[in-house]
Amino acid sequence: MTDIPSVPAPRSAPGPYGPCVLLKHGEVFLKGRNRHRFTERLHDNLRVALRGVGGSTWIKIAQHVTVLGGQVPPDTLAERARRVIGFASVEPAVRVPSDLDAITEAAVEALGDTRHGTTFAVRSKRRDKQFPLSSSQVDGYVGARVLEQVPGLRVDLTQPEVTLAVEIDRKETYLSWRRLPGLGGLPVGCSGRALVLLSGGYDSPVAAHRAMRRGLACDFVHFNGAPYTNPSSVYKAYALARELNRYQPAGTLHVIALGKAQKQLAVAGAGRLQVVAQRRLMVRTACALAARTGAQALVTGDSLGQVASQTLANLAAVDEAAALPVLRPLIGWEKQEIIDEARFLGTAGISVLPDEDCCSLLAPPRVSTRARLPELRSVEKRLDLDEVVETLLDSAQVLRPGAEEEVPATGGRCAAPS
Ligand code: ATP
Ligand code: MG
Repeated sequence: MTDIPSVPAPRSAPGPYGPCVLLKHGEVFLKGRNRHRFTERLHDNLRVALRGVGGSTWIKIAQHVTVLGGQVPPDTLAERARRVIGFASVEPAVRVPSDLDAITEAAVEALGDTRHGTTFAVRSKRRDKQFPLSSSQVDGYVGARVLEQVPGLRVDLTQPEVTLAVEIDRKETYLSWRRLPGLGGLPVGCSGRALVLLSGGYDSPVAAHRAMRRGLACDFVHFNGAPYTNPSSVYKAYALARELNRYQPAGTLHVIALGKAQKQLAVAGAGRLQVVAQRRLMVRTACALAARTGAQALVTGDSLGQVASQTLANLAAVDEAAALPVLRPLIGWEKQEIIDEARFLGTAGISVLPDEDCCSLLAPPRVSTRARLPELRSVEKRLDLDEVVETLLDSAQVLRPGAEEEVPATGGRCAAPS
């Protein structure tokens, strides 16, 4: 068992007995010999999530469980921990010495306030097999004392309303009776870095979160239609990235004004291919940016067939312009599923706001559903693509949503495309 200090005031050992939070590991639990690497990453992310929590904290690991405590109300600790990807469940608990009397006393206290008539069961687990009683003996003993001392409770071993979990380690025991679901997944960062193409809609923030849940640390790039659109989409992208950064050590947001390049494509005769040609330019630029941010893949919110630009042929045409893998976590999702998830994550309220989106700027009345590469290439040939990408990158604005208080300094004026 290892004791690991946490922020902001690291301690070498856990604090006194009392309230704490048990964090049950998700998929990290399945890892083999390199499990410690995943666990270290999980704890690093937990420390980041605890920043500014307002008191000293400690972290301790007991097999597949992380114990979190400190001079902070356990509900606050639990709330922070629930945003850390990699924990399957978050359980406010009390920590007592591994002594039958102490365990019983804590159990009586824990269930003391329970409503009259509530059914309960005690379920204990010995991680330390030296403990003199077997698990079922502890269940029986503690359950009987609770029944004696808390009037009105009833035992139900099949479908109890409250399950009191008793986890017995060598020196200390944890009792918990509330189980909050965690986000599960792999710790952010253990699968590498990705660059998310973040529009102002519902889909891309949900895709970003799915990517994070598979262990990808995400930076974001947003293209706006400046100088022909107002900055409303940038404000949305900023707010979305800030919301997403609550689930990971903060990633950066790159804002790129695409308007002039969009006009160049239109002038080059893109016509019905305009939207797909823009998407190809976005992924080309994003791949060049990824080389600077250290991203190994792009992530988009595409869902197959959702709109004309997302037919299989058009997605393939976009992929052909990408030097990196383009990950599409939502490829098989329905719009309603995406919106429901966005509500759960807290991004829906931002996505629903109106904006001036660069994709509708210069969009043809009918978008081609089957863009052909030779036609796309002949349009692109009329531009010096390398130079266009270079210019776009040079103009990128870099923001750090959530990492510190910073607001996008995009000008409020917009010009009409001529
Ligand atoms: P979303 O898909 O996020 O709801 P949307 O529906 O407006 O937004 P689509 O037309 O579905 O966007 O675009 C598909 C994907 O392309 C987006 O999910 C996003 O990853 C990327 N994308 C589109 N527009 C932009 C943009 N302005 N900046 C960055 N990425 C974009
Ligand atoms: Mg979409």
